[in-house]
Amino acid sequence: MYQFLELQAETDVLGRLADPQAEREFQADRQPATRRRLRFICAITATAYLGAAYADSTMLSGPPLSLLIAARCLAALTGLIPLFLSFNKKALASDMGLAAGLYMAVVMASECLELYLKADIAVLRETPITAYIVLTFYLFQPPQIWQSILCGGLGSVAYMLTLAFFTNAASGHVVNTALVFCLTNGFGLYFCIRFGTAQRREYVALTELKRQAETDVLTGLLNRRRVNELCEREFRAAKRYGHPCSLLLMDIDHFKAVNDAAGHAAGDAVLSALAERCSLILRMVDIFGRIGGEEFAVFMPHATGEQALLAAERIRQAVADEPFTADGKPFPVTVSIGGAAMASETDSLDSLFRRADDALYAAKRCGRNRVHF
Ligand code: GH3
Ligand code: MG
Ligand code: MG
Repeated sequence: MYQFLELQAETDVLGRLADPQAEREFQADRQPATRRRLRFICAITATAYLGAAYADSTMLSGPPLSLLIAARCLAALTGLIPLFLSFNKKALASDMGLAAGLYMAVVMASECLELYLKADIAVLRETPITAYIVLTFYLFQPPQIWQSILCGGLGSVAYMLTLAFFTNAASGHVVNTALVFCLTNGFGLYFCIRFGTAQRREYVALTELKRQAETDVLTGLLNRRRVNELCEREFRAAKRYGHPCSLLLMDIDHFKAVNDAAGHAAGDAVLSALAERCSLILRMVDIFGRIGGEEFAVFMPHATGEQALLAAERIRQAVADEPFTADGKPFPVTVSIGGAAMASETDSLDSLFRRADDALYAAKRCGRNRVHF
């Protein structure tokens, strides 16, 4: 990866992005996947947890069996909370994480209860299934890694304490079980950190690639492809909801002369400065991009022809009023602007561009440094 990507993808010891804002954006990007994972894990584990009641019925009877089945039902019901939250698009990731944490805590508590109730049964000499449950906490990858550490770690400790002090398990078995839990938590944590880091690196790289694919390198404006995409979207919305929209096409006058007089580098500097000056005049919602060498487009959602005409005149004046400087020398520059507004319901984006282009040529023919609609 390039060095600047390495910098952006810098992670802390738990595999989270070092930049908190970037980490929040990553979490937001992962929301849908987190929801799906949460749904899957809750549905599968709650069903399996209820199903295990069959095994209980072959080992226990009377009140202990009823108590354990009640605990299993409670755990499965708690699992319904994160499950329902995962279907609610408005639910916050933090709430889903909390609900999942609560579910896990209830599961671990009923695991301890099961251990206590089955204290005299041979099942104590086997590798506890609870270790796999702990592993599930990590593989589930909740929004915050500490949720896994807290539930997995505390759950393991509670289980070990129950095994050591509330059953008559042999000391060898207690030590072996402790080792199994250490391995499970260790592997789970390792998986979480490595997988989380890989996901974040992929996210940062893709975000940067996307940004580069949409941006003009010289001016930092949107490039032609992105302008087309966004115009297409806004134009469709304008037609659908019946609000106006307008388009300006702007071309620098006699720009070849700047290049010829001062060189390509000076021309480049003028282009960037002009883009920046115009950006300051436009509104956030305007789609402003460089669509050719010294040609720019401004798509104005919600703007009528009159409003776009005023904006175009402001841009023309701002460019003409003050020369640009490159290489310490002043370069007086003017622009010609052609504009068009959406005419009717049957209008197309192509025809809007064609009319703006015709207007631009008319502005050039009429002597340049002017706006034509
Ligand atoms: P007109 O008023 O008719 O638009 O004249 P013009 O000289 O601006 O138009 P013409 O299309 O003849 O030339 C455009 C010039 O823009 C030619 C080219 O060298 C220059 N140009 C295009 N892209 C860039 C660029 O990225 N950097 C620099 N420095 N110049 C560029
Ligand atoms: Mg030109
Ligand atoms: Mg041109």
